[in-house]
Amino acid sequence: MTGWVGGLQIRRTEKGQTPVADFLCTACGTHRRIAGRQKVTDFLRDNPTTAHRATCSANQKGTTQR
Ligand SMILES: [Zn+2]
Repeated sequence: MTGWVGGLQIRRTEKGQTPVADFLCTACGTHRRIAGRQKVTDFLRDNPTTAHRATCSANQKGTTQR
């Protein structure tokens, strides 16, 4: 396993009870925000942490994009 760091946080807005999922990869700085019950459900079903890990630029050794 690599030193995967990142975070997936799910919360709800106080007003409309709309779930909001925030995904942050601290390795490459990717931040995604998904709002809406169905969208969040689909997003989580796709296992965003694992999915991103496959494409994370920080994990692509030798392909620094700077
Ligand atoms: Zn990343």
